[in-house]
Amino acid sequence: MNNRQPAWQAFEQAHVWHPYASMLDPAPVYAVKSADGVRLEFEDGRRVIDGMASWWCAIHGYNVPQLNAAIEQQLGKMAHVMFGGLTHAPAALLAERLLSIAPAGMQHVFFADSGSVAVEVAIKMALQYCQAQGQSRKTKLLSIRHGYHGDTFGAMGVCDPVAGMHHLFADQLPNHFFADAPTAASDDVWDDEQMTSFRGLIEAHHSQIAAVILEPIVQGAGGMRVYAPEFLRQVRSLCDAYDVLLIADEIATGFGRTGTMFACEQAQIAPDILCVGKALTGGYMTLAAVLCTAGVCAGIHADGQGVLMHGPTFMANPLACAVALASIDLLLASPWQQRVAAIETQLHQQLSPCRESERVQAVRVKGAIGVIEMKDPIDVVHVQQQLIARGVWLRPFGRLLYTMPPFVIRSDDLAQVTAAMRSVTM
Ligand SMILES: *Cc1c(COP(=O)(O)O)cnc(C)c1O
Repeated sequence: MNNRQPAWQAFEQAHVWHPYASMLDPAPVYAVKSADGVRLEFEDGRRVIDGMASWWCAIHGYNVPQLNAAIEQQLGKMAHVMFGGLTHAPAALLAERLLSIAPAGMQHVFFADSGSVAVEVAIKMALQYCQAQGQSRKTKLLSIRHGYHGDTFGAMGVCDPVAGMHHLFADQLPNHFFADAPTAASDDVWDDEQMTSFRGLIEAHHSQIAAVILEPIVQGAGGMRVYAPEFLRQVRSLCDAYDVLLIADEIATGFGRTGTMFACEQAQIAPDILCVGKALTGGYMTLAAVLCTAGVCAGIHADGQGVLMHGPTFMANPLACAVALASIDLLLASPWQQRVAAIETQLHQQLSPCRESERVQAVRVKGAIGVIEMKDPIDVVHVQQQLIARGVWLRPFGRLLYTMPPFVIRSDDLAQVTAAMRSVTM
């Protein structure tokens, strides 16, 4: 159907890599000319509703006047300056705003340039903390299966050891500990056996474990799973009992996606270290941040000296900080709780019928996230063609077809997304 390709696309296909893609035998990619509201416009003129919010990021949709204005204003002052020895208002104001909405206890902010880098920095913080405490045996991390934390080496090391990339880089990756992920999706169906694996590992190995790292409540790219807040509460108390730091990776779940500003709030817990990214800039630019408590910060400097050993070239990029600040303010000024709750209700109503299909394994909804898990792997190329014919952009992977739309999506547009999802799964 891609008969009206722009002139550059043949060159692009031959020379430019796409995520998790083969250069030799590339799957089709669709050229986007522009984006506005919840819609992408392809170069050939077709328009599709973006049910992915560009991988969790574009919570306000595209071409948002307030976000455009924030970047334009900052651009008139400066696009970038190094952060070593210099500072600027966009970084300071964004840090203040982030700490004001973050779970209790967060006191310090490290700006990183992507989610994966934020995870690397969080791991470094935990390791440097333990070293400065004289606990140099604490070099391991404990995570749960089905997690996803990014594509750099430190982050890969804590991704799901089966679904992740461990098999390709087995010799280069450290051996961390992985507990079984909880299977209870809510506290209603909780039983204490859900803790057995995690409790066993932390009891046996805490003297080697610097930190627990996990995605609170919703596990994203590692399987699109939802789990009970009670698991997180018990993880928090076991971390306290065994003197292990807790890193919450809220890069996907942060900024309202699960119905609360941060998913941790659903368990009424706060981590020691928090990673945010993705929707931080409303999907405009790459930026992430690592927040930590005063205790973690003091611990890193416990030997009276020491510095945190990280400093990206584009740390705290002013354009990115300015648009992130505007995005958070826009979120706070909007009725985001009602919007996410309305999306959740609609996803429940309109995806639940898929449970009747023999091909469907499970349907899961949490906040503005709707997941259909199939019994067999999805033919991505074919399914995507069918979805686009129905005016919808989604990117299934493995056995999962899922949506996490911009919060501003109208109910008739969301109905078009869910109808397309039903049509390819039932
Ligand atoms: C996307 C993601 C990352 C990695 O972020 P990048 O910006 O792609 O490096 C890390 N953790 C979680 C939970 C994510 O969803």
